[in-house]
Amino acid sequence: MAYEYDRQNVFAKILRGEIPCTKRMETEHSFVFEDIAPKAPVHLLVIPKGPYVCFDHFAEAASDEEISDFVRTVGRAAVEAGVAPGGVGNGYRMISNAGPDGVQEVPHLHVHIIGGRRLGAMTAPGKN
Ligand code: AMP
Repeated sequence: MAYEYDRQNVFAKILRGEIPCTKRMETEHSFVFEDIAPKAPVHLLVIPKGPYVCFDHFAEAASDEEISDFVRTVGRAAVEAGVAPGGVGNGYRMISNAGPDGVQEVPHLHVHIIGGRRLGAMTAPGKN
């Protein structure tokens, strides 16, 4: 698998502090901030600090420590955003777009956490 990471992508700039964001959480290996164009009352982005393009790249190349930190941070972000159904929340959706067919705009792995309202169909209608 060959991935080339673009160090000038917008999330790399956020991680370097070159452009602002609304930060929600930070751990040793992960970072959480608000999506600039929210699709629902809660719309967070969870990213690893390391240079990974998308989920399969991360799964193959990241350390176990980075992976466990990232997975736990996704869960904690949902809990702290108040959408985790095991707590006070009413549920959420996690999405991680990859590549052209996944309509990934920013080539740095990110998981969207979207909630705070009843979400619609999982994907837009289209041809199979
Ligand atoms: P994706 O299509 O999964 O790559 O989604 C990229 C997401 O990044 C979109 O939901 C954008 O609204 C969001 N986004 C782009 N630029 C910024 C930024 N500067 N700060 C926060 N979110 C951003």
